[in-house]
Amino acid sequence: MPLDIFFEVCTFHYLSSKDSLPIFYVNSKITSKLKPLDLIQLSRVSKQFRNIFMSKSSRYVWIEARKNVHGMPDPPDCLPEPKYASVVFERNCFVSAQSKAVQIQPKLVAAIALEKERKVWAERGVRIGLRRQEVRTLYQLYIEDIEDDEVLLPDSVEFTYLPEVTALVSRDDGLIEVTQERFMDVVAEAMTTFNISERAKLANMLREQAPRFTDYDSSDEDDGTISRTPMEIACDLEVLNRATSILKCYRCSLSSPTSYFPFTKITRHNLKFHPDSPYKAISREKAVTGTASAVLKVLGLPSSTRYSDISRKIVCLCGKPDFQQPAEFSELILHITRENSWYIQALRSP
Ligand SMILES: [Zn+2]
Ligand SMILES: [Zn+2]
Repeated sequence: MPLDIFFEVCTFHYLSSKDSLPIFYVNSKITSKLKPLDLIQLSRVSKQFRNIFMSKSSRYVWIEARKNVHGMPDPPDCLPEPKYASVVFERNCFVSAQSKAVQIQPKLVAAIALEKERKVWAERGVRIGLRRQEVRTLYQLYIEDIEDDEVLLPDSVEFTYLPEVTALVSRDDGLIEVTQERFMDVVAEAMTTFNISERAKLANMLREQAPRFTDYDSSDEDDGTISRTPMEIACDLEVLNRATSILKCYRCSLSSPTSYFPFTKITRHNLKFHPDSPYKAISREKAVTGTASAVLKVLGLPSSTRYSDISRKIVCLCGKPDFQQPAEFSELILHITRENSWYIQALRSP
């Protein structure tokens, strides 16, 4: 920076007439234009300038100067701004004359490199966050057109963290906008991966909670006692389709018949009642599962009977109008469970 500009803009004040030296106040109009190397050179013009620029009150000048250098990270905590500027912009290490220089310099260089890397990653993270937001918008539009009832849908945030989608948003360090075309390139594979994984988890959950009947011919039932590896169990998804695999949504009122449904209605249920919530608040109710198993047993059907083979094919003989016609199996089972519960309580009460 030419010094004539510096002296033209800066102001001088005298403390009193007795003072022989002016007190110099750094003018912000100048400092906003300076770079760290300018300050280093200025601080060496005279002892007075050195006192000014090395004083604590001038710290903001060094910070402003540093910010004038694009991409220059903050200094490590252990290093004052002037020393940091010297290390970065001068060939000789500021502290090279000191005895500890040999140990300090490599640490300093490493700290600066780390800070630079941190800043780069932070900026990358912001860009990737924007790309994820673009994906969420596209995904919400995408699921509106899904008609397959057996597809499990992750919620929109979860979707953006699936491996395929993470690869998409991270590509080129998140610099490229996620267009509809780029989204469609990965969505099918991401949904397939998600469904394989989540179905396996759901199947495992259903197996772990399956009821056991000691007096029932379990030749067609895998009761889990046969040695099977977790992977083999996870891969056997047939349990999802069983009539006993009635699921319950904990997000809905538990007294509502719509909060109980078979696996094939998870997606329809969530799109209708929880369009932006994960389906994971789903389990099965022991009493309902037990009733379903007992009903199959009474009918002489194996416990492996599929839900679709029995739903809307049986009626309840209790006389309640809703169930005199073949009903949805989950609703019928819920009805029988509640009726049984009522009878048990009535018998127990004095
Ligand atoms: Zn629900
Ligand atoms: Zn009934």
